[in-house]
Amino acid sequence: MSRSAADALERKRRKLGLLTHQDALLHLPLRYEDETRIMPIARLQPGMSAQVEGEVRAAEVQVRPRRQLVATLTDDTGSLSLRYLNFYPSQRAQLTPGKRWRVLGEVRGGLFGLEMIHPRLVSVEAPLPDRLTPVYPTTQGLQQRTLRGWIRQALATEDLSDTLPDAVRQQWHLLPFADAIRTLHEPPPDADTGALVEHRHPAWQRIKLDELLAQQLALAEARAHRRAQRAPVLPESIDTASLSERLLASLSFTLTAAQQRVVAEIREDLTRPWPMQRLLQGDVGSGKTVVAALAAAHAIAAGGQVALMAPTEILAEQHWLKMHDWLAPLGVRLAWIAGSLGVRQRRAELAAVASGEAQLVVGTQALIQDTVQFANLVLAISDEQHRFGVGQRLALRQKQADHSLTVHQLMMSATPIPRTLAMTAFADLDVSVIDTLPPGRQAIITKLVNNERRLEVMQRIRQAVADGRQAYWVCPLVEESEALQLQTAVDTHATLVAALPDVRIGLLHGRLEASAKAEVMAAFAGGQLDLLVATTVIEVGVDVPNATLMVIEHAERFGLAQLHQLRGRVGRGRAQSVCVLMYQTPLSALARERLRCLHATQDGFAIAQRDLELRGPGELLGVRQSGTELLRFADLVHDDSIVEHARQIAVQLRHDYPEAAQQHLARWARGRADFLKA
Ligand code: ADP
Ligand code: MG
Repeated sequence: MSRSAADALERKRRKLGLLTHQDALLHLPLRYEDETRIMPIARLQPGMSAQVEGEVRAAEVQVRPRRQLVATLTDDTGSLSLRYLNFYPSQRAQLTPGKRWRVLGEVRGGLFGLEMIHPRLVSVEAPLPDRLTPVYPTTQGLQQRTLRGWIRQALATEDLSDTLPDAVRQQWHLLPFADAIRTLHEPPPDADTGALVEHRHPAWQRIKLDELLAQQLALAEARAHRRAQRAPVLPESIDTASLSERLLASLSFTLTAAQQRVVAEIREDLTRPWPMQRLLQGDVGSGKTVVAALAAAHAIAAGGQVALMAPTEILAEQHWLKMHDWLAPLGVRLAWIAGSLGVRQRRAELAAVASGEAQLVVGTQALIQDTVQFANLVLAISDEQHRFGVGQRLALRQKQADHSLTVHQLMMSATPIPRTLAMTAFADLDVSVIDTLPPGRQAIITKLVNNERRLEVMQRIRQAVADGRQAYWVCPLVEESEALQLQTAVDTHATLVAALPDVRIGLLHGRLEASAKAEVMAAFAGGQLDLLVATTVIEVGVDVPNATLMVIEHAERFGLAQLHQLRGRVGRGRAQSVCVLMYQTPLSALARERLRCLHATQDGFAIAQRDLELRGPGELLGVRQSGTELLRFADLVHDDSIVEHARQIAVQLRHDYPEAAQQHLARWARGRADFLKA
């Protein structure tokens, strides 16, 4: 082979990701061809891939409708046409009448009976293989023959010994690794090819399990690694108990059992010498904010500083107001750091944070920028953590003044994480779940309303306002252009102002100055506005319990999770709330499915599960995709039972067979475990 041809081949090999023999072993077939048997021609059916053997009876070059070579092949049972649209003189010579060939190809029904287009010819002298022939995913210009050669070589030279001890394998009814790999690449003729192609075969199950097991082991290592780090210890004391009690006593409600449980879990973590990394999950309206306040109170009373961060300034400001209401009367010193602060005020706040005078600092992600220096940050709380990237979480760690200590982290999310995702992508975190809503909440009534009935919807707003309630009107999402989105919001606002002269209407969108946003939000929260026309900036966290009507225009354009979040802005008080999803026909099948799901349930968990099925894990996770990107074989939507097995086997291996665990990781994870430590 010439140098450049070899280089080209090497490039193709890299393109397929086949850098090592191990990679070649795990390059698994898409389907199989059966060359182990010869079919009687009479049994051929259109659509079938088959091998027949017979004698060439006739061959001619036809010129109409185009130049082509057509031969007739005959066996004891019947005849078949072989058709070559482009052909070489050598092929013509091969197909001279009287010669016998074995012929492989796909059968189709032609004008004059069955035919194969461009079938492969094999000498009748060649021994019949005793295994099915794999067909691999390939790239342009790379022949199956070449790929098969590489993979056969890998099968011959690689160590296929099992990483799982026999006892474990038998307990879980798993095929040996070597058998699984060989079955996948060279199945026996009687193998269930349907199960192989659909990845249901026990050989596939073993490979998926191995992959998920490697992931679980890597995550377990990441956790162990975290336990080896040091964090500020924040012990329970008279001070911590007293501040928490005073906060609880000042609330207008008592904590639900679920809230009490998660608060206890978090407190427990804070008393440990290793960093907490806890995900606090709770559906919209489940009351995560007060849990954050109690966590902060514990850390502050133990002498540390706490940062509370939100993804948007609107949400951060809401948190600030709430924390201020709750904690300032108890003597806690708060600082507010936002992009919109004036220079002098910002400098003063920064100084208070740097000196340690400010005990609770609230803001957006700007808090983890370099300019903010903390005196003694011990706990970082982030709301809606799925919007925080791994990089930002790392930056947070640098904020602890004693660099040998790692800050405790609490991440709050209203996006319910389906179990399989929780066990995989988030398995390096501890998870606390608030699984019940505060008492007295009524289910939100969700109505699907055709866009043409907007006058009725406006009437509904008038009525709600007359009853002393408030409402949101969410403007349509315009993904193509932010300017257009803004224009739509402005237009909608103008239309509603004209149509509803008795209603006090505010407008909130992403382009407003932060101070203007805060003003509008404060007016709505304070009841000086009845209706808030908004873009999706209100998606997260906004909490105005008197608002009982949510109208979402062009709901068909939004994603499931987003609609669930938006709907969660109502139903926060004791009054009956209604969410009106206005849609424009015709609806795509997917949009119809989303609206149907939202209409059918208010259970965020069920909605997330449906979202996972409709969209796949990548989108659901947003930035933090690391865990799932590593999966090539397993599928989190369909293989949830394997995920569960992998989790249990990982625990078993680490406990009883640590060497096997290391070998397994070495085979599967290679350099990837390090990445997960972030
Ligand atoms: P989310 O979990 O969506 O952030 P919030 O923390 O904003 O929810 O709480 C939603 C509303 O429920 C707030 O008005 C909050 O004050 C109220 N709330 C929280 N916990 C309770 C409780 N145990 N009993 C009654 N109301 C509560
Ligand atoms: Mg919230």
